[in-house]
Amino acid sequence: MNIIPLGIWGGYPKANSATSSFLIEEDGFYLLFDCGSGVLSSLQNHVNIQQLDAVIITHYHHDHIADIGALQYAKLIQNQLAGKPKTLPVYAHNQDEHFQTITFKEHMKAVNISHANQIGPFAIETIKTNHSAFCLAVRIEVNGKSVVFTADTGWEPALIEFSKKADMLISEANLYLPYEGQIPGHMTGRQAGLLAKEAGVEQLLLTHLPHFGETEDLVKEARQHFTKHVSLAEPGKNYVLA
Ligand SMILES: [Zn+2]
Repeated sequence: MNIIPLGIWGGYPKANSATSSFLIEEDGFYLLFDCGSGVLSSLQNHVNIQQLDAVIITHYHHDHIADIGALQYAKLIQNQLAGKPKTLPVYAHNQDEHFQTITFKEHMKAVNISHANQIGPFAIETIKTNHSAFCLAVRIEVNGKSVVFTADTGWEPALIEFSKKADMLISEANLYLPYEGQIPGHMTGRQAGLLAKEAGVEQLLLTHLPHFGETEDLVKEARQHFTKHVSLAEPGKNYVLA
């Protein structure tokens, strides 16, 4: 499984970057994980639009869906140029009226993610997170390797069992330690490290980063608890689980 961070920011992208999202590939099947601001531009450094096989949306905050409209137009144009439509399935929850806005003619189709346990080669599981909007953490497994995305969440004990023994945990770390307990719905670097330790994962990547302070401090916080490899997710780098 190849995992490429397309963006790592929470809220909005910094210059020439994107909000937290990932491209996941196995055996030529390309899965886009979240589609926030700047993602469509970043994505095309790695694949063309028609190579995308599926999309997962964790929740409907702007920094996770801002480029869905742009993706609809991209599919429209590329399908027209190809002369035949390749419908792109978008797996998302339907606990919000935004679900209805994803389907776009024959170009994109919303699929209720609670009805899906397999997307292409990937086995998937979801669990509701602790966030201000209904949001899903996602566990993806293929060929005996597993990655868990916390998506957006405050501290949520159920994520420990959900993330158990994952080869990689990709956790949000939107807050520095002084803000722990002050801002609901997001975790500190320390909490991401604690989750990684309690779940017994092999590796921790931090994403959904804040726009101030020294983001490497989030890594130091995580290392208070988690002694295996931890780093900030690096946009464009190919993380290989094999
Ligand atoms: Zn959110």
